[in-house]
Amino acid sequence: MSIINEGKIQELMILQTSRSEVREILQKGEEMRGLDLDDCAKLLSIQDSELLEMLFASAKKVKIAIYGPRIVLFAPLYCSNFCVNNCEYCAFHVRNQAPRKKLTLDEVKEQAEILEAMGHKRLLLEFGEHPIENPIDYVVDVIKTIYATKKGQGEIRRVNVNIAATTVENYRRLKEAGIGTYQLFQETYHKPTYKKMHHGPKADYERQITALLKAFEAGIDDLGIGVLFGLYDFRFEVLSLVQYAQFMDKILGVGPHTISVPRFQSAHTVNIDLKYQVSDQDFLKLIAILRLAVPYTGMIISTREKPEIRRQAFAVGISQASAASKTQPGGYSQNGKQTAEGQFNLNDHRSLDEVVEDICSLGYLPSFCTSCYRTGRTGDYFMKLAKSGKIHKLCQPNALLTFKEYLLDYASAKTKKIGEQTIMNQLNLIKVEPAKKRLAEYLKRIEQGERDLYF
Ligand code: SF4
Ligand code: SF4
Repeated sequence: MSIINEGKIQELMILQTSRSEVREILQKGEEMRGLDLDDCAKLLSIQDSELLEMLFASAKKVKIAIYGPRIVLFAPLYCSNFCVNNCEYCAFHVRNQAPRKKLTLDEVKEQAEILEAMGHKRLLLEFGEHPIENPIDYVVDVIKTIYATKKGQGEIRRVNVNIAATTVENYRRLKEAGIGTYQLFQETYHKPTYKKMHHGPKADYERQITALLKAFEAGIDDLGIGVLFGLYDFRFEVLSLVQYAQFMDKILGVGPHTISVPRFQSAHTVNIDLKYQVSDQDFLKLIAILRLAVPYTGMIISTREKPEIRRQAFAVGISQASAASKTQPGGYSQNGKQTAEGQFNLNDHRSLDEVVEDICSLGYLPSFCTSCYRTGRTGDYFMKLAKSGKIHKLCQPNALLTFKEYLLDYASAKTKKIGEQTIMNQLNLIKVEPAKKRLAEYLKRIEQGERDLYF
């Protein structure tokens, strides 16, 4: 079974388009039913700045219609950088002689407490592939430890996981441990590039591309996909992501829960050919096209990107962002000792409070919501709500409730001020009773000390 039709994609990559055709495609995109591959290929060929602005404007409309002003925030937690693979783009590759670090469960607890004290409620766990150091038992113990770590008002309510492709049985263990989304990136869908970039068990392209099917078989129905932009031609990768999303929709009955768009960043001991480096303009273009192509799928940006690019990316399609990230195991410790290797270099070093304040000043609404997976709204049930646009009625109040908690428990005085104004502005936009009444009542209860109220 070939999931990615490489020949077809290569043919589409040379498609060109006209001004009138772009208008038609954008109009179709604004209907929020997605785009087909030909449409995406034509949009990828846009170079003209006026047409690009039109593309950004359409993506912005779709973003606002589906996601409103919300930006959901999370942090990665690197648990172990032991890895048996030799990926050319990652500092955890096995040739790197730097000391390795695997968090003990006490250290996991300590890292979780630090992240909770910042105000984080959702984490993405990262582990290198290492059957001896990072077996599934360790991964499950880490997840259990994090869920059990509660200090003051702090708690992690959703743990998403990124582990190497594994067996259905191991995915079942993840499901039983109560993970949110399972993320696995193909890194590049282009087979010759994949082969060049990978050595070790991850070099098995088929293992990587079919892993999400195994996870689904094990009952994990919130699945995240992504590529590492910069390994191969971004147009090929975008068309492959869309083709993979269509494949998931057709075969599994659920599209991807999230699409991540990491761009290659330099890292210690990493030295790859930068021929396919993606420019800022192309990066924003591809985000806008993905927004129109798979409107119901959350899109994630990381702190690999500079604040300025992140701000622009929020406008054209990004709905989730990491904040205050560290990419070395133990990196959040306050003692300042950074002995472990990080995975790559970061470009946004701001604190969570600074990111939150910035998001508010741009007119967006920070959200720490985790309610869907905790109320069983996953898989096709979630997709139905997302595709029909009904999820908005849940996301918006949940964003307000979780942001209120953040302001009360963690925000600086400056952020509190702009944050309260943001809440007031957003509340005034809600016209529908009884949702407004229930929301006002929940907000009051949160002010009085209750926590974790959600729709
Ligand atoms: Fe290991 Fe993942 Fe890095 Fe590859 S990308 S070297 S599998 S941690
Ligand atoms: Fe995400 Fe569901 Fe919360 Fe919306 S309501 S932000 S989809 S968890």
